[in-house]
Amino acid sequence: MMLVDGDAGSTSDWDDRWNHIKKFLERSGPFMHPDFEPSTESLQFMLETCKILVIGAGGLGCELLKNLALSGFRNIHVVDMDNIDVSNLNRQFLFRAKDVGRPKADVAADFINSRVPGCFCPSFYLYLEFHIIVCGLDSIVARRWMNGMLLSLLVYEDGVLDPSSIIPLIDGGTEGFKGNARVILPGMTACIDCTLELYPPQINFPMCTIASMPRLPEHCIEYVRILQWPKEMPFGDDMALDGDDPEHIQWVYQKSLERAAEFSITGVTYRLTQGVVKRIIPAVASTNAAIAAACATEVFKIASSAYLPLNNYMVFNDVDGLYTYTFEAERKENCSACSQVPSDLHFSPSSKLQEVLDYLTESTSLQMKSPAITTTMDGKNKTLYLQSVASIEQRTRPNLTKTLNELGLADGQELAVADVTTPQTVLFKLCFTS
Ligand SMILES: [Zn+2]
Repeated sequence: MMLVDGDAGSTSDWDDRWNHIKKFLERSGPFMHPDFEPSTESLQFMLETCKILVIGAGGLGCELLKNLALSGFRNIHVVDMDNIDVSNLNRQFLFRAKDVGRPKADVAADFINSRVPGCFCPSFYLYLEFHIIVCGLDSIVARRWMNGMLLSLLVYEDGVLDPSSIIPLIDGGTEGFKGNARVILPGMTACIDCTLELYPPQINFPMCTIASMPRLPEHCIEYVRILQWPKEMPFGDDMALDGDDPEHIQWVYQKSLERAAEFSITGVTYRLTQGVVKRIIPAVASTNAAIAAACATEVFKIASSAYLPLNNYMVFNDVDGLYTYTFEAERKENCSACSQVPSDLHFSPSSKLQEVLDYLTESTSLQMKSPAITTTMDGKNKTLYLQSVASIEQRTRPNLTKTLNELGLADGQELAVADVTTPQTVLFKLCFTS
């Protein structure tokens, strides 16, 4: 976590430094927000006050940091958990060969600081202090977590959302020649979880993560696919891994489970294994540039309030020619992240807890990774199943083969589910079917 920052009222401003920005903010134009009055205030706010958090300093993050710093934002924080790998250098242009192995966030902030005058680096932040958050992530779980975090900061009074508690989230994503940029006003417009069905299973991870610090089940599968298969050649010399051969996938699945167990990672399934093995899409620098430009433009529009923001989802595709399309993603009435209403879980009293667990991970609208299920019985909290702590997993595992009836659960019972996809506990209501 690093900061790219300029002193307020910095002396590093030379004459005409922000002329290109002033043209948008200090004179009127046909595309202006209808309520906007041109003035010098917007630029002052951007230069001195507006605080932006950029999540991810990879392909999209490098582009975003550069774009935002050159657009007049000087209070830019950046977070990234990864270290720089040599394979990043072709597109993550804030990094050089000498930086390989160093944390991305540190190096990215240093580079921006040295090229855009007037900056320093702190080590602590609260989400609340930011005006806008931009995500340039390659992980859907991390995106969902961030989405959940911003939703948890919303303040409702008598069921009415306090607009001052909304922190806009600009989210960019790319995959090969395809990408999307979207604007999320948490609690007001469609959130990440409202549109979960749109996300394909994830592929493409940095090599250093795969080899030395796996965090996700996908990292373990990639490790087996890229490193273990060529070394062990389980089906004879020169037999390439075939994503359509069930025996091959079964082998990768078993080895991935072993790797995952080593790092206490849960969530490796046969289906996920096949998804990861079959879809390998390289990162494309030009797609990152286009999506980051769209995201930085949205940050500029929201921070200056001079233009209407994107409403609210833009898709981009340059596989064959160039195609973009914008649509308004709609809020899902019963979204488990943003609807404020506990979702119903329809199960028969004779269903086993395992079936509930499977539903939570396999339902396209939930896609949880390793849900922990608790409930309240006779005024006491009861953990029905929890995977992340080995001793509790062992103790609660027998519950999976019990029926909901046997567990003493009643119709209308509330189940609280915790998962890595959200910082908040998600409430569900059990509805018995006959
Ligand atoms: Zn939602």
